[in-house]
Amino acid sequence: MSGLLASAFEGGASEISPRVVIYRVALFVASMLFLLGLRLLTSAETARRGMMMAVWGMIVGVVGTLIHTDIVSYGWIVGGLVVGTVIGIPMGLLIPMTKMPERIALSHAGGGLAVALVGVAEWYAHFRLGYKPGHVDRFAMGAVGFECVMGAITFTGSLMAFGKLSEIIPGKARVFPGQNAINISLLAGTLIALGVLVANPAVPGLFYAVLGVALLLGITLVVPIGGADMPVVICLLNSYAGVAASASGFALDNNVLIICGALDGGSGFILALIMSKAMNRSFANVIFGGFGSGAAAGASGGAGGTAREASIEDAAAWLKEAQSVIIVPGYGMAVAQAQHAVRDLSQALQANGTTVKYAIHPVAGRMPGHMNVLLAEANIPYDQLFELEAINEDFPQTDISIVVGANDVVNPAAKNSKGSPIYGMPILNVDQSRRVLVLKRSMKPGFAGIENELFVMEKTSMVFGDAKQTLGKITGALKGGGH
Ligand code: NDP
Repeated sequence: MSGLLASAFEGGASEISPRVVIYRVALFVASMLFLLGLRLLTSAETARRGMMMAVWGMIVGVVGTLIHTDIVSYGWIVGGLVVGTVIGIPMGLLIPMTKMPERIALSHAGGGLAVALVGVAEWYAHFRLGYKPGHVDRFAMGAVGFECVMGAITFTGSLMAFGKLSEIIPGKARVFPGQNAINISLLAGTLIALGVLVANPAVPGLFYAVLGVALLLGITLVVPIGGADMPVVICLLNSYAGVAASASGFALDNNVLIICGALDGGSGFILALIMSKAMNRSFANVIFGGFGSGAAAGASGGAGGTAREASIEDAAAWLKEAQSVIIVPGYGMAVAQAQHAVRDLSQALQANGTTVKYAIHPVAGRMPGHMNVLLAEANIPYDQLFELEAINEDFPQTDISIVVGANDVVNPAAKNSKGSPIYGMPILNVDQSRRVLVLKRSMKPGFAGIENELFVMEKTSMVFGDAKQTLGKITGALKGGGH
């Protein structure tokens, strides 16, 4: 830290202008705010403060950068701010929580494009216009080249992820002949060309070829990944965007970019590891496996049989007698915006003497932490939320599990059906509880597109309808007020 602060005054106080000192101190303060913000984000109680610190870090960083002495004209900067604001504010206000993964994928695409364009501008100014004449700086070329490659891969890869998540292009894995050989060759070719470029930085054909191949690589890397592997892909792209930004920091000699990029890259990578572990899959398997393609995607997990439907009155009567209940939220709770109705039901149950816990699967919903965010919004106490490992042993002693719009994360096919695309993914052992109530609208499958044998088990009763309305009616009946 002292080294960083010292770098703000590098060159001797007499040689540097006050503007440069203010710029460097601002970047130092911004970096510290980001680090503290991230630290506070590790606990639910302090997360809001952490987010505000990061916001202030961004403000200090942007204002500090605006006083940089190298800025020739503010026209383009103001134009960029206007365009960003015009796109960003409606995106923030209009895109619903359920579309958050798509929005994140688009943001990553924007970040990747920006970093790649900064790299192109740096390369052009540095090596074509002789902006810094004299000697060829190979370290700078390495940083610029790496920045462009990672930025370009992030850009097209994130656009593909966006297309798949929003179903503009089929979400299923598309395995093409020689897919892994082509991807490995493209990657190796890019790295070799990058090495040649570092030795001969001013060769435009080579530079643009590297950029073009990296753009292609982003597409060919994400096309074969489908189905339930998208959480890992989103985290990996997050990590790529961070690494690209960090490389850009080295190219621009900007500490805050190096630090923020490293934080983003590191946290994205750790999250990708956590998500892979949650799905019991290795990185290599996610990236090269073509998961969810062809015959495997069609495997139903062997869900034959007929589902039993329960009425609101039945559900309320069973819940009245229950000593212990576990609520399992999933993507459907987010769609129905049923988190407040879930809280109302759990309060009614607790008032009746029932113990209520929430079981949170790491990939439930459509983004990491999706369920935690929604339940926190409804002020559900954090100590009632339990991760998969912490709660799975409780299911056999639980009277009723209420599945609120969850599907893949409670599908026993992950344990029982070797041919199933989700085979091996740890699931919440809802099937082991004494009785299961499933609240969803139909028998349709979830994100992975496979049937669920839990729904046809003898202990399971389906209560069809929108989760929010169903929960409201059950709570009303439980309180004795009908519905
Ligand atoms: P699923 O997508 O498996 O299932 C959600 C269920 O919710 C559907 O079966 C649907 O059934 C039901 N539903 C939808 N709308 C409503 C509504 N209004 N009321 C009641 N039910 C509703 O969700 P899970 O959370 O179980 O699993 C998440 C899946 O998403 C996993 O496969 C995971 O890999 C994947 N994924 C996760 C990401 C993450 O980071 N968490 C990112 C990307 C993908 P019906 O239509 O019949 O109502």
